Amino acid sequence: MKGQGELTTARAGAASAAEEIVRVVDVKRTYVLGREQVTALRGINMSVRAGQMVGLMGRSGSGKTTLLNIIGGLDKPTDGTVYIKGQDLSRLSDSALTLLRRTTIGYVFQSFALIPVLSALENVELPMHIAGVGRAERHKRATELLQMVGLAKRMHHRPFELSGGEQQRVAIARALGNRPALLLADEPTGELDSTTGLQIMSLFRYIATTENVAVIVATHDPTITQIAHCTYEISDGLCHLLGESSAEPSPVG
Ligand code: ADP
Ligand code: MG
Repeated sequence: MKGQGELTTARAGAASAAEEIVRVVDVKRTYVLGREQVTALRGINMSVRAGQMVGLMGRSGSGKTTLLNIIGGLDKPTDGTVYIKGQDLSRLSDSALTLLRRTTIGYVFQSFALIPVLSALENVELPMHIAGVGRAERHKRATELLQMVGLAKRMHHRPFELSGGEQQRVAIARALGNRPALLLADEPTGELDSTTGLQIMSLFRYIATTENVAVIVATHDPTITQIAHCTYEISDGLCHLLGESSAEPSPVG
């Protein structure tokens, strides 16, 4: 990918190589709907390290979003434990959890969720602004990130002037602003054509490796098995390892 360069800025909350960022232990989640119970997750175990891209594959309704929300501290398991950088999420106060979400976890959604009146650069700067990063530093970081995702020439465009793939690149850059140790992406290629989707998947792998971020991508697209370092499949509320790939895929796009 053109314009991708390793970021030189120091990573304050950076993880050391191969540090375990996520540990999921026997996580269960049951939803109660009136008198009915829906068990989405029956006992999930997984571990994700810094620099690792993990795919989460499964059909619609298999529990991918439920698991990502629990890992990201947006939902709580009915049973079991999630550790982020060794911290048991269930033992954190609401404010500590909010802080952890803001400083340690980046989120990418299917629908991009960019602010239409802001330029790409301003969209990427926004979470840093909210976190109190000074103007010069956030401008520098946002510029570097947009270069890394291949959008150096589109920085001043608004979302409606960008293609779907370009909008998702902006959203990925935005998620990295505060240097998260963990990046969670829920169906990030769901609204993209297959070629663009493949480029975005490859970008996640590139980010995991070069930024030493733990990346979890949920998708129903089996191509993920060729791109992620390893892929888990969720079915019947359980997950099992589908396969691991060690070779770096050739850059796409
Ligand atoms: P996926 O993201 O893989 O499509 P989900 O995690 O969204 O799957 O859903 C898993 C299961 O849990 C489905 O059967 C779904 O209907 C159910 N479910 C998800 N969210 C809720 C909720 N808020 N209330 C009740 N059931 C839910
Ligand atoms: Mg989902």
